Amino acid sequence: MDYDLLVIGGGVNGAAIARDAQGRGLETLLVEKNDLASGTSSASTKLIHGGLRYLETYEFRLVRAALKEREILMSSAPHIIWPMRFYLPHSAEQRPRWMIRAGLFLYDNLARRELLPGSRGVRFSKEFTSINPLKSNYRNGFVYSDCWVQDARLVALMAQDLVARGGRVLTRTEVTSARRSKNETHWNFTLRDENGDLLHGQAKAVVNAAGPWADKVDSNVVAKNRPGQLRHVRGSHIIVPKIEGVEHSFLLQNTDGRVIFMIPYEEDFTLIGTTDVNHEGEPDQVRCSDDEAAYLCQAVSRYLESPLSTDQIVWRYSGVRPLLFEEGKAASKVSRDYSFSMEGSIEKAPLLSVYGGKLTAARELAEDALKHFEGILTMSEPWTASSVLPGGDMGLDFDARMKELREAAPDLEQKVLFRWLRNYGSYAFGMAESPGPCLGDGVYEAELKHVKTNEFAKRANDYLWRRSKMGLRVSPETLLKIEEYFG
Ligand code: FAD
Repeated sequence: MDYDLLVIGGGVNGAAIARDAQGRGLETLLVEKNDLASGTSSASTKLIHGGLRYLETYEFRLVRAALKEREILMSSAPHIIWPMRFYLPHSAEQRPRWMIRAGLFLYDNLARRELLPGSRGVRFSKEFTSINPLKSNYRNGFVYSDCWVQDARLVALMAQDLVARGGRVLTRTEVTSARRSKNETHWNFTLRDENGDLLHGQAKAVVNAAGPWADKVDSNVVAKNRPGQLRHVRGSHIIVPKIEGVEHSFLLQNTDGRVIFMIPYEEDFTLIGTTDVNHEGEPDQVRCSDDEAAYLCQAVSRYLESPLSTDQIVWRYSGVRPLLFEEGKAASKVSRDYSFSMEGSIEKAPLLSVYGGKLTAARELAEDALKHFEGILTMSEPWTASSVLPGGDMGLDFDARMKELREAAPDLEQKVLFRWLRNYGSYAFGMAESPGPCLGDGVYEAELKHVKTNEFAKRANDYLWRRSKMGLRVSPETLLKIEEYFG
């Protein structure tokens, strides 16, 4: 195994860097110790957003760059990234109206915006003519745009693209050690696969993109003695059966100054999050606590006509934000920006460690990361801003593609076709042409074959919770058949 670049960590940052590098001509190996996106990158709020609330902490660079990324990413993967409108109810005890209006003006105008509609003031009685989920004292507010992303699928597609360009992905394989050779011209690394077998290889450069594990990889894998660069902040979400009237998303201001999202999810559900809690344990051991679940229910119930209770929760998940260490700041106020630490040169094989970041910033972060290797490794120009991810070659008119798909496969359930187009984009047409046997609950063999062959799914859970969210829907009988399929 001889590579130009070894990337440690198959979350969104590792996958974005590895894909970009391979596309620029570097022979790249991406190694993930579990499944792709099994860390923070499947546990987010799933927004490609500028981050309206970061304007309050004057993070204009971060917000502008992220706002710019929204339309770039949407064009590259319109099947998994789409526009979303966010309602912001307003009442007298909250941030003043002028402040929100000024923030939204900046949000609309900080970066070029061609596809997403701008913000405006709303009166809810006019806006929600059929069902209004809000209490009647919330009469006015605002609405603005951001985008939704299938977070774990974004990572799988980047990895699929990396392989299509000649790179290699190893999942369920841990990088256990990487050391510079005696003459320091390259790295010798050791991997341990899921059977416990050790594999050895060489790379000219190493990127540590291990997200919340980055400090640990610095000290234990690449033997770099660095003071902790990261602060671990847990964020949790709950999922409840669809709250009537939640057809669009809501950004709700809580009494503690934080904001909570309430988002339509997977057609039949509502997603609510998130929290900001200092996480003391290992990043592998993260779960949404009962306190966090109760906090989220309470926060949205202040706004809802029918209050929400924890009994209604059907699923909960939690992830650890790898945030930059900033002394003395409250968890929710710590910057969501990223930083790098680089050591190396032409004579000394380089090591780049990545700290922080967001799903939204991953493509741009990858470009910034590779700048560190200019003059050390031979690479071509940046290319990802105008690229298309696998399945994304279907254009921005989703409804027109849906109509074509329905005409191509009139016998398949519309719900299945919709889900396929939303997850797999143009691959949905091939699946619809030969779906194979149905295992139950709208799961056909063609879909399982696709995620196994092209998207590195090895176990039932990879499919149920990351390549899709069918874990929310399948019966025990179907689950058994899916498990049998993955062996
Ligand atoms: P990860 O996704 O954690 O990936 C690191 C990977 O490294 C892991 O899969 C891990 O298994 C692997 N690894 C570790 N050690 C090794 C090793 N030795 N060998 C091999 N592999 C290894 N961002 C947005 O843009 N929009 C949002 O709406 C949003 N919401 C969020 C909500 C919450 C609650 C949280 C927690 C984050 C949110 N984020 C959001 C931020 C975003 O999710 C993260 O910044 C991003 O997913 C981090 O990606 P990563 O690749 O750095 O880390």
